[in-house]
Amino acid sequence: MKIKPAPYLSVVAPCFNEAEGLNEFHSRVSSICKQVGVPHEIILVNDGSRDDTWEVMRRLAAEDSAVVVVNLARNHGHQLALTAGLSLCRGERILILDADLQDPPELLPEMMQRMNDGADVVYGQRRRREGETFFKLATASLFYRIISRLSEVSIPRDTGDFRLMSRRTLDRLMAMPEQHRFIRGMISWIGGKQVPLLYDRAPRAVGETKYPVRKMIRFAIDAVTGFSTRPLKIASSLGLAVSAFGFLTFLYAIVGWLGGSTIAGWASVMASVGLIGGVQLMVLGIMGEYLGRMYDQCKGRPLFLIDEVIGTSVGTHAENVELASLTDAA
Ligand code: UDP
Ligand code: MG
Repeated sequence: MKIKPAPYLSVVAPCFNEAEGLNEFHSRVSSICKQVGVPHEIILVNDGSRDDTWEVMRRLAAEDSAVVVVNLARNHGHQLALTAGLSLCRGERILILDADLQDPPELLPEMMQRMNDGADVVYGQRRRREGETFFKLATASLFYRIISRLSEVSIPRDTGDFRLMSRRTLDRLMAMPEQHRFIRGMISWIGGKQVPLLYDRAPRAVGETKYPVRKMIRFAIDAVTGFSTRPLKIASSLGLAVSAFGFLTFLYAIVGWLGGSTIAGWASVMASVGLIGGVQLMVLGIMGEYLGRMYDQCKGRPLFLIDEVIGTSVGTHAENVELASLTDAA
């Protein structure tokens, strides 16, 4: 009987100001990979950090030949930094992790097992989240409920980007050229056999969240606009409802005028002007969100810019990646 060699694994982690925690991240990830006995590479993407992340990464790459480090030209955001890492990796299986150790690398053996059993994607689903603020939990829960209402594809609740996926799924993901990426949704859209793995989400090992409210809102709008055109339909229904209200008010005014009662209502006029103006602006804003994204897509700019890669991996989706410099650390 021939023993099938273990599939090559790529671990990809985007990092933004994660200098403090990277050493521990590296040691936990490499020890679990060694324990499972898979040949692997660890791709760390520096997303324009302002601390020593890049220096720490270079040192890790010099010490461990399995580490590949990628320096982006500036901060591109979590989803694009992740895309940069994915475009360079060569694994037959790809594990996406957050660099802050909130996603336990120790789940790897179980994820690998489920993939051996035929899954295309094994995604981590949070049973419990520790060390998060009430605000974060409440907004995250609201977000997943709204997105599952609006979207035509079913995006599992309480998941992040933490997942193991097959090369086939990655190839399909990389064939999607959208600029505003909501990667967990895009992977759901791809379909295939996707199975959850429940886990308790740990608090951040060090540092604080790199997702301030401003980034969370942008991420949520990207998710909604990327996966649903229902807000546009809601906009037109809203327009219809407000027009009906305006028409009724108009009838009321005519009847009042015929009946001879003078209309003293300054307040009601101001209220309806305000209401109608507000609804109009909101509808324009919704259309603007979609239009702006179409504009970004039309420009067809590269998704990210890479300044430097240290290490050996240049995966199958790197053909469109313009590398300013490629250094072989080995
Ligand atoms: N991240 C990134 N670029 C950014 C923001 C975040 O690469 O602009 C990375 C960050 O380093 C981490 C992951 O994305 O590895 C998730 O971010 P974070 O842990 O801050 O989000 P949270 O877990 O609080 O939702
Ligand atoms: Mg985190």
